[in-house]
Amino acid sequence: MPDTENRRFLLVKRPIGTPARDDFQLVREAVPHAPEGGMVVRNRFISLDPAQRGWMDDAPSYMPPIALGDPVRATTVGVVEESRNPDFAPGDWVLGLNAIEDFSIVLPGGFTSRIDVGMVDRPSRYLSAVGAVGLTAYFGLLDAGQPQPGETLLVTGAAGAVGSMVGQIGKIMGMRVIGIAGGAEKCRRLVGDYGFDAAIDYKDKSQAQIAAEIAEAAPQGIDILFENVGGEVMDAAMLNLALHARVVLCGLISEYNSAEKVGMRNLWQVIVKQATIKGFLIAAYVPRFAEGGAQIAQWIAEGKLRVDEDIQFGLDNAYDAFMRLFTGANTGKLVLEVD
Ligand code: NDP
Repeated sequence: MPDTENRRFLLVKRPIGTPARDDFQLVREAVPHAPEGGMVVRNRFISLDPAQRGWMDDAPSYMPPIALGDPVRATTVGVVEESRNPDFAPGDWVLGLNAIEDFSIVLPGGFTSRIDVGMVDRPSRYLSAVGAVGLTAYFGLLDAGQPQPGETLLVTGAAGAVGSMVGQIGKIMGMRVIGIAGGAEKCRRLVGDYGFDAAIDYKDKSQAQIAAEIAEAAPQGIDILFENVGGEVMDAAMLNLALHARVVLCGLISEYNSAEKVGMRNLWQVIVKQATIKGFLIAAYVPRFAEGGAQIAQWIAEGKLRVDEDIQFGLDNAYDAFMRLFTGANTGKLVLEVD
């Protein structure tokens, strides 16, 4: 790619259901210049997250929808190319909320922070282990879930970026940990690679079957349900709550591509089990990121936490790479490395 070109992955149509290739367009523009007080960042690693699917819908959320014709919003790790901001110099590595494009303009006051890439084995770790994903697992389980040693934790979407870290942190906290994931290979990895006590494959199973397998793996019930998926899987989990269970509602990926939202059919279990459902949003924890990042880095250094990344290459590959989240092809945190 010549340095004079900026490839940008634009949202041109609002997806109906599963995003289609022609909902997006890759365009080539001139490399921008830094505005007064701002800078231009050359993106090197781009985070591909389920949340981006929500930002494509024109629906109320914690952020405005991506405007049609704008590049798809994304957290990126990159290097400052040009700076008119006295706090940043060309060559600084930064983490920020930018977009799927080669070069992003960061306006004055834009959400960007300098990162120390010497602290990690590769810069993409700021999108996985010590980035929003790792911090979601950390604060979602410890703060929203309030785990106690000896309790039972059920994680859905367990082999994914957030889920695999939640389960491992649960083990560090002395919990019995059960994971639900799609396919035999992912279930093998839950137990073999991440140290879960038991794994359940939800593919091609009814809600009743999944519920029965959870009951077998957790005869005393689930004290914490860390929910990433929703739909049938969550309905099955809700039938196995222990008294005073806590449900950490982190994600509902099975619904993100549904035009009709499914909803929760076993809500009555919250009454029966006097349970608590807590909605969790990582954006609320920004002031505590340093604390969480330090603890995660320590666990990794001590060999207690394994963090896998699924690195896909090339901006031209953005659509196919993004869709891996919804087919379950990703093995670990999905990251697009800019070619
Ligand atoms: P993952 O790495 O877990 O990738 C997504 C996984 O979801 C896939 O690999 C697939 O795994 C599973 N999946 C996809 N479609 C379906 C479906 N229809 N039914 C069941 N499972 C499905 O992604 P992340 O770790 O980045 O995100 C996990 C969840 O955490 C998401 O719901 C996301 O929105 C949420 N999240 C929430 C945050 C917050 O602040 N609340 C912050 C970050 C993430 P499998 O093969 O097992 O089906």
